[in-house]
Amino acid sequence: MTSLDDLPIRDDLRGKSPYGAPQKTVPVALNVNENTHPIPEDVAHDIVARVAAAIIGLNRYPDREFTELRTALARYLGHGLVPEQLWAANGSNEVLQHILQAFGGPGRRALGFAPTYSMYGLLASGTGTEWVTAERDADFELSPETAVAAVRRHDPDIVLLCAPNNPTGTPLSLDTIAAVADAARGVVVVDEAYFEFADPGTPSALTLLEGRPRLLVSRTMSKAFAFAGARVGYLAADPAVIDALRLVRLPYHLSALTQAAALGALAHSGEMLSMVDEIRGQRDRIVRELAALGYRPYRSGANFVLFGDVADPHAVFEALLDRGILIREIGLPGCLRVTAGTEAETTAFLEAMAAFTPAAS
Ligand code: PMP
Repeated sequence: MTSLDDLPIRDDLRGKSPYGAPQKTVPVALNVNENTHPIPEDVAHDIVARVAAAIIGLNRYPDREFTELRTALARYLGHGLVPEQLWAANGSNEVLQHILQAFGGPGRRALGFAPTYSMYGLLASGTGTEWVTAERDADFELSPETAVAAVRRHDPDIVLLCAPNNPTGTPLSLDTIAAVADAARGVVVVDEAYFEFADPGTPSALTLLEGRPRLLVSRTMSKAFAFAGARVGYLAADPAVIDALRLVRLPYHLSALTQAAALGALAHSGEMLSMVDEIRGQRDRIVRELAALGYRPYRSGANFVLFGDVADPHAVFEALLDRGILIREIGLPGCLRVTAGTEAETTAFLEAMAAFTPAAS
C-alpha cells in the first residue's frame, strides 16, 4: 500500500494533518459552531426557485465578478460599503486562502494569537507562508499592548485577528484592532465569522475600514445565516485589495448555483437571522449554568462557549458522545468547547454535564 510518505509531496507538507473535526451523525451535534436551526421553509422555497432558474443557464459560465451578489452583500453590510469593496468565495476559508495566496507565500510570515482558528496555520502551510503565533493575555483576552508588541517582534506580512476568537469565544476590542492596524506593515485581517452573535451594539471592524487600505474584514454565511452547506464567505476591504484577490482566484470560482442560493438567502436576511437572539440566549444560559455546575466558562461573543475545569476532557467528550451529544475537544488542557444549539439541544447538553464532577480549581 502506498502511503503519503512514499509520494513526492512537498517537503513542507510532510507530517502535516488535514483539518479534521469529526463528522458524525448524532442527535445533538454541537461541535462545529453551526446554526442548528434549519432554514425557514418559505426561504427554502424561494432559494429553490432561484436555483431552478439558474439551472437553465448552466451551459454558460457564471458571472465571474458575481456583481449581483457583491451588490447584495454591500447592502447587507451597510457602513456605506460599495460593491467594489466586496469579495466572496466558497466559504470564508476560501476567502482567507485567497488572502494568503495574494499577500503571503514563501519568504513571508503570518501572525496569529493562539489558541485561534486552526485553519489559519493550515492555510499558511498550504501557501508556503510561515505561521507564527503569539500569546494572549489572561483568560484569552488580547490587549492592544500585547498585540502590538507581538506585531513589532514578528514583523508579519499578514496578521490574522479572529473577532470573536475561535475556539475561545473571546471578543476583541476595536482598540486592539486599530492598534494592530496602525502598527503592522502588512495586511491585517479581522475574521468576523461569528460577528452577528456579538452582544447588540458591539461595533464591527467594518467601522475602521475608512482610511485603512490594508485592513480586511471577512465574514461568512455559515454561522448566523444558517447557510454552512452552501459555502459562502465574503470580505470587505479597499477596492485595491479586491484587485489583488482577483489575481489568485480561479476563474468562475463561485458557481451560478452558489450565487443564486446566496442571493436568495440575502433577500430574506431578516428571517435567516431571526434565530440569532435565541442562540445568544442559549449561549448565555450555557455560561450561567456551567458556572453554577462548577465549570469555568470563558467570556463569549460567539455562538459557542469554551469552558475549563473539566477533570478529564476526553472522558467527558466520550461520555457525551455515548448519549448522542457531540461537542469539541480542542486540545486545551482541562477545556472543551460547545456550540449553543436549540433550547432542547442545549438542555440535553447541560443535563448530561450535570452528571460529571468538575476539577477542583
Ligand atoms: N473563521 C472562523 C473563525 C471559523 O470558525 C470558521 C468555521 N469554523 C471559518 C472562518 C470558516 O467558515 P466557512 O468557510 O464555513 O465560511
